[in-house]
Amino acid sequence: MQVLIVGGGINGLMSARLLRAAGCEVTLLERGDTGREASWAGGGIVSPLYPWRYAPAVTALAQMARQAYPRLVGELLAETGIDAELEQCGMLMLDATDAAEALSWAAAHGEDMQRRAQDRLRAELPGLAPHWRQGLWMPAIANVRNPRLLKALREAVVQAGVRVVTGAEVTGAEVTGAEVVGDSGRVTALKAADGRCFEAEQVVVCGGAWSRGLLQALGVTAPPPVRPVRGQMLLYRLPPGRLPCIVLAEGRYVIPRRDGHVLCGSTLEECGFDKSVTETALLSLHASALRLLPELSDQEPLAQWAGLRPGSPDGTPYIGRVGNLENLWINAGQFRNGLVLAPASARLLTDLMTGGTPCTDPSPYQWREED
Ligand SMILES: Cc1cc2nc3c(=O)[nH]c(=O)nc-3n(C[C@H](O)[C@H](O)[C@H](O)COP(=O)(O)OP(=O)(O)OC[C@H]3O[C@@H](n4cnc5c(N)ncnc54)[C@H](O)[C@@H]3O)c2cc1C
Repeated sequence: MQVLIVGGGINGLMSARLLRAAGCEVTLLERGDTGREASWAGGGIVSPLYPWRYAPAVTALAQMARQAYPRLVGELLAETGIDAELEQCGMLMLDATDAAEALSWAAAHGEDMQRRAQDRLRAELPGLAPHWRQGLWMPAIANVRNPRLLKALREAVVQAGVRVVTGAEVTGAEVTGAEVVGDSGRVTALKAADGRCFEAEQVVVCGGAWSRGLLQALGVTAPPPVRPVRGQMLLYRLPPGRLPCIVLAEGRYVIPRRDGHVLCGSTLEECGFDKSVTETALLSLHASALRLLPELSDQEPLAQWAGLRPGSPDGTPYIGRVGNLENLWINAGQFRNGLVLAPASARLLTDLMTGGTPCTDPSPYQWREED
């Protein structure tokens, strides 16, 4: 089977890897360069934030994907020499107002979640601001250095025989068989902005925040409601090891990297496709970082950036066939969890496209126009 994938973020690259491993001939079309949009901008926490607050369909993919991550990162290191630095550092959530729900969710889903009283927080995390009263500790949560993961994936898929075409902005499709209203047609080729044409047997849209417009350009009249949600981040540096784990409070978090870099995120902004960074976000994120780690008060952030998440109504992604064209598929809408969900999202897509037994019930991820 020959597959054209549109979009070279984590979801396009991961789908390319698994479809290629399943024997497909894969071409990936990317408008700019691969791994430069949301997948690059993200924090790389390999778990939803406050995971108990998500729909069961998100939990199902997240649990499957978290188990797949160590093997994926190990294989990529062996194949490419690039270490995506998966660190099982744990995640500490402070003063959650719904701790009882969290603990019962954890018990029901086999997740290791432990309460931490204030004195233990102080003893285990001396750099933490003293005003936090209690914590929920999930020792199994990891973070991954996502820009390196994307570099490794790109190199690995190319080695595996995927054709990656950068600078190819898909702007339309050639379609047959959809002349009669109500008939399903087929995409026969994708057209790029520079006039190139790519023949298509099967097409997968992995366009992140741009997926809705992309599907419209391909002729889908009622595409799923994927929308851009801007997230801004700040970068600091502390001595390596100083921040031992991910810490989350009041919706904001700090993430430690192996080399001492600390990421602080993130904003949630509905402002269309505007990817600029703002002074307001800088001040607000810096204040959040200080509320967690007072020792950052004598530091200027080293960098600030923004990315556009592919927002979906409750964070459940769209995975499966889409629209009235029989060979058109989607893997998009992972919202705040595209990095953690990627291995499982791509697994489900591959199972559905190749006729395998789906790794999980596919129905929650199907787009129905009446949704
Ligand atoms: C600040 C921030 C923090 C985050 N933190 C985390 C986290 O800690 N953990 C986590 O799991 N997730 C996190 N996320 C979410 C995660 O980054 C996204 O859900 C994920 O990256 C989406 O991946 P994607 O491949 O669908 O989209 P993208 O990475 O945006 O890729 C889509 C690609 O499609 C291409 N494209 C678009 N239109 C066209 C076209 N017409 N033709 C060709 N190519 C096209 C784009 O150029 C782009 O490369 C975060 C996001 C942000 C912004």
